[in-house]
Amino acid sequence: MKLLINGERRDAVSGKTFTVRNPATGDVLGEAPLGGEDDVRSAVEAAGEAFADWSARNPRARAKILFFAAEEVRRRNTDLAALLTAEQGKPIREAVDEINGFANILEYYHALSAGERGEFANLRGYGRTIVLRRPLGVCGAIVPWNMPAIIMGWKIGPALTAGNTVILKPATTAPLTCMSLAEILEGAGLPPGVLNVVTGPGETVGREIARNPGIRKVSFTGEAGTGRQVALDAAPALKRVTLELGGSDPMIVCGDADIPMAVEGVVRGRFYNCGQTCTAVKRLYVFDSIADEFIRRLRSRVEALVVGNGMDRGVDMGPLNNPAGLERVMRLVDTVREHRDGEIVAGGRVPRGEEYERGFFFLPTLVAGLPHDSPLFSEEVFGPVLPIATVADLDEALERANDSRYGLGASVWTRSADLIARATEGLEAGIVWVNQHLKVPPEVPFGGTKESGIGRENGNRALEEYMEEKVVMIRL
Ligand code: NAD
Repeated sequence: MKLLINGERRDAVSGKTFTVRNPATGDVLGEAPLGGEDDVRSAVEAAGEAFADWSARNPRARAKILFFAAEEVRRRNTDLAALLTAEQGKPIREAVDEINGFANILEYYHALSAGERGEFANLRGYGRTIVLRRPLGVCGAIVPWNMPAIIMGWKIGPALTAGNTVILKPATTAPLTCMSLAEILEGAGLPPGVLNVVTGPGETVGREIARNPGIRKVSFTGEAGTGRQVALDAAPALKRVTLELGGSDPMIVCGDADIPMAVEGVVRGRFYNCGQTCTAVKRLYVFDSIADEFIRRLRSRVEALVVGNGMDRGVDMGPLNNPAGLERVMRLVDTVREHRDGEIVAGGRVPRGEEYERGFFFLPTLVAGLPHDSPLFSEEVFGPVLPIATVADLDEALERANDSRYGLGASVWTRSADLIARATEGLEAGIVWVNQHLKVPPEVPFGGTKESGIGRENGNRALEEYMEEKVVMIRL
């Protein structure tokens, strides 16, 4: 793999590469260039030069290229999904969905481009006033490894449709799918320099994207701590930032909930993508009145989940993506054992067997009976471990659910109109689901409150996030 700068395949200035491995087997998948600050600077120069022509094009003509790319992505779904599973670890059916999701996003922005317009006001005493919307210029897109294709789509879809040029930085453990998708966009007609991909560490490539004054906006998705650093680095140039950060989503199961449906909601909500989703169910609050039955059913369902290589048929959950993630999850569960302050209801260890020895596997895990201040409730647990608490009623559930520095997603499971009204009003989150969790279609604005981030992606105003308004006042 090479860097993609100005339509050319280049080695990094450092001449060095880093190895990308399969997290299920440890097998080497390839080498990626170890980019650095100089590579970002070259990309900024190329993107700056490409901006004049790209931004002057008709928005529909720009979006048509995204539409053609989406068709090609769908045609090549099988290969792209296999690549995504190989580098990221998720089961192949989740990878197929993610690749289709990327195509959906590009198609959505194609559709939005038709409605792109400014405003007009006939103000008495001020003349005719027109509000023009102009693209910002060169934009930076920093992507994590957990949903690389979807998150790449959330950023480049609106940025490119709005007429900006982009420098994309994938995560070091999942750069291959992003690069393949960028090449498809190029093949669909994106001119050189409009989308540039620089692989390499966050400390060099990521920080230069945040700092470089030639970049007018940076859209970052990743951990809250990294987001804070990005905001600090972006501040001197006063550039726009969108920060999509961590979450610790609560799921509240009320006494009248459809228990089998809610059990399935937890299984998908927590163990999809091996628990490595920003909007995963990360804390479960179940009403006392149904807790015994709920936990019993959940336990037998969780213990039946098949853990293995995401490429194998019938696998429900793959490995974690990287060794640091596995270590973090193991540390949290070990702490519960050491302090004896919780009951490990299911899992709680790495699976046994030869097929697991070379990967970053951990069993789907349920932990009950923890104290309120357990790190399993206060930290973002980015892996297949779910802390469960029982609550007397909705008031207690809301108090505990909102007792978090995060506020990304939340869900309530009930058929009562009164409980739905109180929970949707009371939960501190960017998105609240009722009788479902995890779904984020491109049509709705997505982002968090509190330390889960700043700004929104998606939704019908997403193009405006990548544009600046210019007012023209005409006195006749
Ligand atoms: P991370 O913060 O470690 O890395 C994210 C990206 O930032 C990577 O490309 C990384 O190389 C880069 N990076 C690292 N240090 C940087 C720096 N100083 N400056 C600029 N870039 C830097 O996050 P991760 O482990 O890759 O992803 C998991 C996190 O992402 C979780 O917290 C998860 O909740 C969050 N996430 C949030 C959303 C959302 O939309 N809110 C979506 C997916 C994931």
